[in-house]
Amino acid sequence: MVQVDLVIAGAGFGGSLMAMIAHQLGLSVVLLEQGTHPRMAIGESTTPLSNLLLERLCKTYDLPRVAPLVKWGSWQRAYPQVACGLKRGFSFFHQSGGELLVAASPHNEIADTHWYRAEVDHFLVMEAQRLGVNYRDRARIETLDFAEDGATIVGHAGEEPFHIHARLVIDATGPRGLLYRALQLAESPMPGMPATESLYSHFTEVSGTECGESITPYPVDDAAVHHVFEGGWVWVLRFNNGVTSAGVAATQAVAKELALSDGEPAWARVLDRVPRLKPQFERAVACQPFRYMPAISFRSGAIAGKRWAMLPSAAGFVDPLLSTGFALTLLGIERLARILRSSDVSRQLQTYAEQTECELLTASRLIGALYATMGNFAAFTAVSLLYFAAVSLSETSQRLGKLELAAGFLLDQHPVFGPATRVLLERAHKLRGDEDTRAFTHEVLRVIEPFNLGRFGDPALRNRYPVHAEDLLDARSKVGASREEIMAMLEKTGFSDSPSANRRSLHSASVKKA
Ligand SMILES: Cc1cc2nc3c(=O)[nH]c(=O)nc-3n(C[C@H](O)[C@H](O)[C@H](O)COP(=O)(O)OP(=O)(O)OC[C@H]3O[C@@H](n4cnc5c(N)ncnc54)[C@H](O)[C@@H]3O)c2cc1C
Repeated sequence: MVQVDLVIAGAGFGGSLMAMIAHQLGLSVVLLEQGTHPRMAIGESTTPLSNLLLERLCKTYDLPRVAPLVKWGSWQRAYPQVACGLKRGFSFFHQSGGELLVAASPHNEIADTHWYRAEVDHFLVMEAQRLGVNYRDRARIETLDFAEDGATIVGHAGEEPFHIHARLVIDATGPRGLLYRALQLAESPMPGMPATESLYSHFTEVSGTECGESITPYPVDDAAVHHVFEGGWVWVLRFNNGVTSAGVAATQAVAKELALSDGEPAWARVLDRVPRLKPQFERAVACQPFRYMPAISFRSGAIAGKRWAMLPSAAGFVDPLLSTGFALTLLGIERLARILRSSDVSRQLQTYAEQTECELLTASRLIGALYATMGNFAAFTAVSLLYFAAVSLSETSQRLGKLELAAGFLLDQHPVFGPATRVLLERAHKLRGDEDTRAFTHEVLRVIEPFNLGRFGDPALRNRYPVHAEDLLDARSKVGASREEIMAMLEKTGFSDSPSANRRSLHSASVKKA
């Protein structure tokens, strides 16, 4: 029998990263994957917050070879062979014709990315092995027994049997994964979220989005593109290898109307529902089988025990909307990493579970409110501004090294922002008519004002939010920073490394005049 400190089940990006970190902490680790790499995986779009978290993990746990993945520019220089997409922001197009464009970076060099998971996950698992992690693929776990001192895991990796004793097991197998099934855990409800279904694939020959205006804060397709309609939305993410990821997420009622469970034939009905997409997909060819998910959201009834813990991605999932999955997974990895070497792991795992659940519920309340307002773009926009105001303040606080300003995921633990946002998110489910929506939007803008670093809600910007140094400088008192501190932060993050950055762009100037 092999004795190790840690067995991690599941070698997606979460499992491989957790394994690398545990190894760097001096623990002996076995990483078990049921499949083989490279393989198709979904969950592709990163955000400034997820990239900041990954950057911090790479620094803290000395993973310099993973660090280039946190920005488009460094990625292209270090690993041009690993496919990804350029993500400059979030683009929303509504069935009513409404548009919302929120930039996340001032230029490509420091932009976010969409991960082409087949290649990124393969790269990460190879990095884990390079560091010395014991990796076994084609792993079938046949028995898993927990005792006071750890777990005994018996199974086969391909034809080869394994018999391992581990002090701790981390489940990185995704929703409804290994431990949920092995321990026969209950499924808990996801507050505020409707039941939803999904259908998705990868395509080639997808053409560009038609945007209502020619002047935009970034090229609209270099983004996570969302097409929103009542009861659902479609994502379109473009990679740099000619492949585009696209899929729909919809409430059960809409999924039934579209008969998503039919798979490929339902995609044509999705395109009928979102006419703007039709020309884009006219010549498109699916290069992966369509995958149908009968239930997107999931929340495990338990997240950790004495000798086990689930990564956030195994503990639950809300929805791809706003790309919260990576950030939540990385927050969980960071928390687990801090407690792995503690003499008191079991007790600390309970705190880990509580925080993980709290973050999941925060995401659930937000995304539930977005689903509730999908038929009302003004309200949908207002709800999304709660998210953008919270994340941009969190990101800036992290960059300034003032973590205390950003309490909890999306400022959920902030004594003012947290409770006020919760009230608004509940109210979003009950909005009636234009006047109510206007009052709601007004209240959102009032709540975000002390945290708003990006002129969110400024009518002069007409739902097009660029990233400008001057806006941050103007709002510096909201993060208790001096002009010099903001300038130093911008310098350090590479904000001004582009010729057009650090001064107002033509776009902004023209919007101001308008
Ligand atoms: C439709 C959809 C779209 C999404 N889009 C986004 C997005 O744009 N941005 C974002 O941030 N998040 C997104 N997410 C969430 C994202 O997918 C997850 O946060 C992310 O995949 C978590 O990574 P992971 O490595 O922890 O788990 P996974 O990617 O789920 O990997 C799990 C691994 O475990 C392996 N495995 C499964 N069972 C076993 C077993 N019994 N034994 C051993 N191995 C096993 C699997 O083969 C796989 O390799 C999306 C999710 C869905 C469903």
